[in-house]
Amino acid sequence: MNISPIEQLFTLFNETAMTLQEELNCTYLEALAETGENLFQGSILQEELSELTVKRLKKQYEDIHIQKYSNEEIRKAYQLVILKGMKENVQPNHQMTPDTVGMLVGYLVERFMKQSSFRLLDPAVGTGNLLTTVLNHMQRKITSIGVEIDDLLIKLAYVNANLQEHPVQLFNQDSLEPLFIDPVDAIIADLPVGFYPNDVRAADYQLKADEGHSYAHHLFIEQSVRHTKPGGYLFFIIPNGLFESEQADQLKEYFKENVIIQGLLQLPTSMFKNKSAAKSILILQKKGVNVTPPKQALLVDLPSLSSAVEVDKILVKMEKWFQENKG
Ligand code: SAM
Repeated sequence: MNISPIEQLFTLFNETAMTLQEELNCTYLEALAETGENLFQGSILQEELSELTVKRLKKQYEDIHIQKYSNEEIRKAYQLVILKGMKENVQPNHQMTPDTVGMLVGYLVERFMKQSSFRLLDPAVGTGNLLTTVLNHMQRKITSIGVEIDDLLIKLAYVNANLQEHPVQLFNQDSLEPLFIDPVDAIIADLPVGFYPNDVRAADYQLKADEGHSYAHHLFIEQSVRHTKPGGYLFFIIPNGLFESEQADQLKEYFKENVIIQGLLQLPTSMFKNKSAAKSILILQKKGVNVTPPKQALLVDLPSLSSAVEVDKILVKMEKWFQENKG
């Protein structure tokens, strides 16, 4: 029987993670980060393992020859094992960005960005799945930076980037605290949605709530705009209700002053458990000299991505928009 490269890698990650989970008495996802690091470093880094386990792991790593796999094969296999681990316990806001969304964002970044090389920041990098999907999609030299508050997720992102040989600069911190990152040309982020508990920090933002906790996703947008160069682009995965909350007027005012809305793509509702969890991709451009709004924003209601005919139609519509608006 022929086993696909993704299955081969999945089996390796899964089996070695299970061995480490048991011996190190840790969670599956922690063990996954450990095994990924071993694979990348070409050695067994955990000192507390039995001789027999070390021998067995060595053999499994040696048999796989990671260099023969493409970045996308590595990313997809790693994504599948993370999904398995996340089934055990994960908060909704920690969920990995799915493939289909990442590929759409990759397409949009490719089409909007004109520079032959540029700097890209993901301030909610999580496992790095969205970021590396976009990087694998691009044929250009990109300097990329990721920020993530969660220790385990950033470790998974670090291993992910290493295995795919993407030189990503990673910061383990709260993205709403000051960031020591020079303004970038583009931002991508699957925004964490909900309240930001730190009212003192929130006070530093124009989009803070007048009363009570502020919305983390609003503050994330403002922080991202701050860290974008004039004329730079921002691609956010947002909840569909973004412009309908009781704080939406404030957000709209902020948009008017600081950005141009280039597009809004509603993701197919079939991708989400229920309608209220559905999301869209919002494309903004930071205002600046010679930055002009499009004749009309790119507004798309994406069909179910399983229908190739429908997807083709939408791609044709989007390409037409790019020709008319972006030359
Ligand atoms: N794109 C990511 C991926 O492919 O794995 C998933 C992003 S997930 C929807 C949102 C991420 O934002 C989570 O990983 C969460 O830990 C992170 N996050 C939430 N609040 C944060 C904060 N204040 N600073 C930095 N990261 C934060």
